[in-house]
Amino acid sequence: MSEEIKVDVTEEVTENTNFIYNFIKDDISEDGQFEGQTVHTRFPPEPNGYLHIGHCKALCIDFGMAERFNGICNLRMDDTNPAKEDTEYVDAIKQDIHWLGFDWGDRFFYGSDYFEKDYELAVELIKKGLAYVCELTPEEFKANRGDTQTPAVSPYRDRPIEENLALFEKMRNGEVEEGKMTLRAKIDLASGNFNMRDPVIYRIRFINHHRQGTKWCIFPMYDFAHPIQDALEGITHSLCSLEYEDHRPLYDWVVTNVTIPYHKPRQIEFARLGIDHTVLSKRKLRKLVEEKYVSGWDDPRMPTLCGLRRRGYTAASIRNFCDTIGVAKSSNIIEFAELERCLRDDLNLTAERTMAVINPVKLTVTNYPEGKSEVFEVENNPLDPSAGTHEITFSRNLWMEADDFLEEPIPKYKRMYPGNEVRLKGTYLVTCTGCVKDENGNVVEVLCEYDPESRGGNPADGRKVKGATLHWIDANNCVDAEVRVYDNLFNDPAPDAADKDFLACMNPDSLQVINNCKVEKEMVEIARKFDQMENRTGVNAPTFQFMRVGFFCLDNRDSSADHLVFNRSVSLKDGFKK
Ligand code: ATP
Ligand code: MG
Repeated sequence: MSEEIKVDVTEEVTENTNFIYNFIKDDISEDGQFEGQTVHTRFPPEPNGYLHIGHCKALCIDFGMAERFNGICNLRMDDTNPAKEDTEYVDAIKQDIHWLGFDWGDRFFYGSDYFEKDYELAVELIKKGLAYVCELTPEEFKANRGDTQTPAVSPYRDRPIEENLALFEKMRNGEVEEGKMTLRAKIDLASGNFNMRDPVIYRIRFINHHRQGTKWCIFPMYDFAHPIQDALEGITHSLCSLEYEDHRPLYDWVVTNVTIPYHKPRQIEFARLGIDHTVLSKRKLRKLVEEKYVSGWDDPRMPTLCGLRRRGYTAASIRNFCDTIGVAKSSNIIEFAELERCLRDDLNLTAERTMAVINPVKLTVTNYPEGKSEVFEVENNPLDPSAGTHEITFSRNLWMEADDFLEEPIPKYKRMYPGNEVRLKGTYLVTCTGCVKDENGNVVEVLCEYDPESRGGNPADGRKVKGATLHWIDANNCVDAEVRVYDNLFNDPAPDAADKDFLACMNPDSLQVINNCKVEKEMVEIARKFDQMENRTGVNAPTFQFMRVGFFCLDNRDSSADHLVFNRSVSLKDGFKK
């Protein structure tokens, strides 16, 4: 990844004209390879982990291209490698794709369902003299393939067909030990492309398969199974990431040399997505989970879809991100900030505004009558009048942000300091009159007087108020909440680079937990409703803009009406820096 270039994302905004779109368009046009046919793509995740934002790029392309051409897209579990697969992952993958808003209809498949067919087609290759059983050990195979010089011919290459058929059957029947034999395609030992130097297409593994059990002890290699799966499903365009480019000649060789029911699918590659300050590899993400660097696959710091969802990312923001980055052919690393921008844009339009005080200090309005309370209406979203309003109360005892008060103001400071007049959001103008400190000199209470003639925030005499508008909360009408603020999981911008130990790049301060934050009491009712939801982790929890602070959502796992937990989804663009 170190050689990869950082591209200006604006250059990649090629939504309507990207090269894959153009390929497909030509293919289905007159005289194209698929003239007049329905575009048929597939998304083939391996169910050995949860989907991350990199997979999301791929599936947005797969499902998205099908959508744009009125075609169809299959969801296929690529479960031909038996070692690490699990049904837990299958369910999670389905949930995440549905959450993003894509649907495969009744076209859900497992690669392992084609094992019998794969076997049949391997036999066909043997019969055509295009595959042979090889007895080289893996080490011999590697040396023999000529990774450094011209490859040597396997002594088993010219085995008679009958012998190959008999041995392959023995392999299938479990009569051959693991590692003793493989089936290799007979292609071209002199090819400049290593994948074409008689690649292994079947290997022996005595291992339980998550769906097939112990029915099989020989398993097709990805490069053999994948083109066959595509061909059997009638896929027209097999879209995948760039690391498969060198495998395309083999893909084409397979679909050319075995008998398939429809047309030959066409493979097209696009660049893998990389994001700074994170890793996009299931192997590495699994390590973070297993070794408890994070709380799980859905830890809000994880780049997984379930982690992003728990953090507060909406499906719309992620799809918009995938549209924005486009379909480049060159590898690139996108800044995490770009993902944040997409979320902010979305939440700005949709999130309900509310007031919350993260680091509270008492604010007492000394000239406001004891026991009095007034109700004010605040807009739920100034950008969307149809979102309505909700009620807040005002009284003598309030909470304010400790950082909004300075006894000795610094230059240009417009918030609370003795003598300064500020606006309390949605209610009155108040003038700071001083503060109360404890024995250690810490401010424990800020004092102010309100102007009764300024209800709604405007002075009756028309005087100009230069002070800031501050958020606050009525101490008689709020509840405590825990707030979790997240930072990058990795300090290093490129922890995924091949030459780096990603675990050594971790940011020890990526999670900050703040207790005793004050939020509006109505949150309890909102949380209670959410508590009753059946599939909380599969959906977005209620999300808010805490005015002046940032966007926050209820934690879809740990929050409850009795103990509110909020995740900071993203900061406000122009939010004040603490
Ligand atoms: P990982 O290394 O994270 O396990 P993978 O490629 O092995 O990724 P698969 O489940 O096989 O994971 O991936 C399913 C599809 O997603 C593949 O077609 C692959 O090309 C694509 N994909 C995976 N990671 C990325 C990425 N970072 N950017 C774009 N596409 C990706
Ligand atoms: Mg893979």
